[in-house]
Amino acid sequence: MLTPERMLVDLIRLNTVNPPGNETLVARYLKDVCDSAGIENEIIEGEQGRGNFFARLGPQNGEQRLLFLVHSDVVPVGEGWECDPFSGEMRGQLIYGRGARDCKGLLAAELYALLRLAAEQVPLQGTLLFAATADEEQGGRCGVRYLLDRCPQKLRADFAVNEGGEEPVVLGGQTFFFFQVGEKGTAWSRLQTRGKACHGSVPTLGENAVTKMATALHALTAYRAEIILIPEVRYLLQELGRAAGLDVSPYAPVAVETVDRLLDGLAAIDRDFAEGLRSMTRMTISPNVVQGGNKTNIVPDACTADIDIRLLPGEDEDYVRRALRDCIGDAADVDVDIFNYYPPTFSTADSPHYYLLEQVTAQVAGREITCLPHISPGATDSRFLRDAGIPCYGIGHMIPELDREGRATIHGKNERIDIPSLHLKADFLYALARAYL
Ligand SMILES: [Zn+2]
Repeated sequence: MLTPERMLVDLIRLNTVNPPGNETLVARYLKDVCDSAGIENEIIEGEQGRGNFFARLGPQNGEQRLLFLVHSDVVPVGEGWECDPFSGEMRGQLIYGRGARDCKGLLAAELYALLRLAAEQVPLQGTLLFAATADEEQGGRCGVRYLLDRCPQKLRADFAVNEGGEEPVVLGGQTFFFFQVGEKGTAWSRLQTRGKACHGSVPTLGENAVTKMATALHALTAYRAEIILIPEVRYLLQELGRAAGLDVSPYAPVAVETVDRLLDGLAAIDRDFAEGLRSMTRMTISPNVVQGGNKTNIVPDACTADIDIRLLPGEDEDYVRRALRDCIGDAADVDVDIFNYYPPTFSTADSPHYYLLEQVTAQVAGREITCLPHISPGATDSRFLRDAGIPCYGIGHMIPELDREGRATIHGKNERIDIPSLHLKADFLYALARAYL
């Protein structure tokens, strides 16, 4: 049987940078592997070349249904790699390449668990579904959203595991594993200012739309978002703070007034991790694209700025408009258009499925661990499944000591994953399917 690392290298070599995607390349690979193993499977293209792959093990309509979800597209590679991003180069315990962590590592682990269950002829009472879908990195139009529209029964499961979980950390000698139970919402917004064009040599005759925008953006940087501690996040911070030896009493729960002090303490230990936690406690506003003016000697009459805004529960489009207005001021002549809105989504951490995830993780981790639920500042395909009524849990199971810096290579250069972590993921998925089905 192929090893997870062998399959990961094969998958990295299939270029599925989205756009354009070409996920059918991966779907065909998966088809060959599953055909050889006698596993029932099919490919459904959301558009030409945009293949979604499905496989199934166990009875067609088992009473219990578990879904392994993953996406097969990757983001563009960018500059500055130490190796060919499509080579799957191995250096010691590490495999390099675009998608190694997001998400072809998980893809290889899910596939391996499926193959192992088939090879060992494990008699399943329930049905294991495996879906490697297209287009996650561009919003799922040819992937999960397409499938939920056309053939939702193919994804219908009691619960699903997917990407999106924080990677484990060790704090104060205690090892924490995480499950993503929710995702923040998005409210991508475009600000627009208008002015009056004139010759750049006599600017006082015009009205400069770019400087108007600069004033508005400057005002946004001063915005202090309201802190909201949802129960899962409060618990998470409490436990992490205590393990890190920060001043958190079990009798004085983390409060809105004290949370930044706690986060600053965690940031002193692991800044990347702590800033991820900080963004779970408030709406974030980040102006990321500005366009205005087209010639040095013309005063610009229009300027736009695209703002990435991420929301917590209770914050909707009206809330965003109000926040922007409060900040920029009504008088400023700035139009606001929310052009991409998706509300936050959640799955409960108080369910037998969630407890099973914790139990199986403890069983395969090979050490004493603590499991905690968290929410993710970013979004994955889990949000679409949750909206379709399928509980979804994000896992990021890794061996924490091996390559902590690797976490920062997701969507960046020199993306990589270590082989023991790949095996840990595969072992977890295999044990989960056995335990549930
Ligand atoms: Zn991903």
